[in-house]
Amino acid sequence: MPRYFIWTIGCQMNKAESQWIASYLDSIGYQACAAFQEANLVVLNTCVVRQSAEDKVLGTLGLLKGLKKEHPGLSLLVTGCFVDSNIEELKRRFPHVDCFFKPGAYYELIDWFQGQGISTLGQEINFSKSSPSPCAFVPIIQGCNNFCSYCIVPYRRGREVSRPLEEIVCEVEALVKQGIKEVTLLGQNVNSYGHDLPTNPDLADLLTELNSIDNISRIRFLTNHPKDLSQKLIGAIASLDKVCEHVELPVQSGDDDVLRAMKRGYSVERYRKLVLAIRHCIPQLSLSTDIIVGFPGETEEQFGHTFSLLEEMRFDVVHVAVYSPRPGTIAWRKYKDSVSLEVKKQRFNKIERLQTNIATEINSIYQGKIVEVLVEGKKKGKWYGRTRNDKLVFSQGGNDCSGQLIEVKIEKFSPWALQGKVVN
Ligand code: SF4
Repeated sequence: MPRYFIWTIGCQMNKAESQWIASYLDSIGYQACAAFQEANLVVLNTCVVRQSAEDKVLGTLGLLKGLKKEHPGLSLLVTGCFVDSNIEELKRRFPHVDCFFKPGAYYELIDWFQGQGISTLGQEINFSKSSPSPCAFVPIIQGCNNFCSYCIVPYRRGREVSRPLEEIVCEVEALVKQGIKEVTLLGQNVNSYGHDLPTNPDLADLLTELNSIDNISRIRFLTNHPKDLSQKLIGAIASLDKVCEHVELPVQSGDDDVLRAMKRGYSVERYRKLVLAIRHCIPQLSLSTDIIVGFPGETEEQFGHTFSLLEEMRFDVVHVAVYSPRPGTIAWRKYKDSVSLEVKKQRFNKIERLQTNIATEINSIYQGKIVEVLVEGKKKGKWYGRTRNDKLVFSQGGNDCSGQLIEVKIEKFSPWALQGKVVN
């Protein structure tokens, strides 16, 4: 049986797509192996969100070129954000790669196999889960129409393309039959799901359909764009019992001028009102956000506005990134990277310290409480999993809790996780 190895770099979207590719390869008679050196076929699923990620992809391609020299029969396939519309240029630069296919363009992968004389007709893709985890990622929309000035994604993943609603429902039903209890719907901007489909369903409609599937316990979705998150969606999160009370809502900056330069399409006031509306409808909600510090021209005063917004909003989780120019983006073309690395690091550390204190205070309210956890596995003798509102929980006790919904009494907390004993 031929063996395959999938090398995945990057975000959850890439992980989900690699899972799909694995299911497809399984269905046509390949077998997964643990090391790329043992494989007849290597799929490299790439990320280029930062220049450093693209450099890593180039390094890995160089490594695989050496491997292919030693094993000329090895097939090398490349997908992910490294593969843009200029495939002919990629083929010229990397002649050792047998097939480039755009992210999510599985028909190009299937065509390649058919071109090799491997018939895939009549074979159904089995959306199999290869890990014992009860959680799965399901892409629902590819690409992005937003063109935030610092971001390369729209150039690489192209414009938004939604998957048909019925196809997603079918995939989730198949996953649930295999024991999946939680799905996370993925997209660069899940809030614009469906606008390009004939009947214009939206994310709230999709959540409503998925909520009616028997035996699914939890539904999550990310990432949201603040300018597109609708009142209808807030209502759906509040009313659908399987949709989890967690929203990832990247704000990026707390200053209107910086937000304009970033081309984010909302003001701080609009973001503030949106958070108030969500919290009003879903009081038990946890909220995460992303921040970029040191965007070109960001002054101390503008950074102060971001800091104050974080103090005011008190997010559960803040992902902070230091701005670095990404060749090919609007910000790279238009703005000088004027904030020194030293200042960027100071701002980064200041936010990390603030958020550590806020997250500690938020998590302290769980002390002594009983929370429901979906167990994803075991690490160092402890069960680990998440609450509905995305708190990471480690617990001890209980027999085989793997993949189960359990109740845990919280005995300890930190900014990053909760710890306790299994009570049920
Ligand atoms: S919404 Fe902005 S940051 Fe997110 S993928 Fe689209 S362009 Fe990039």
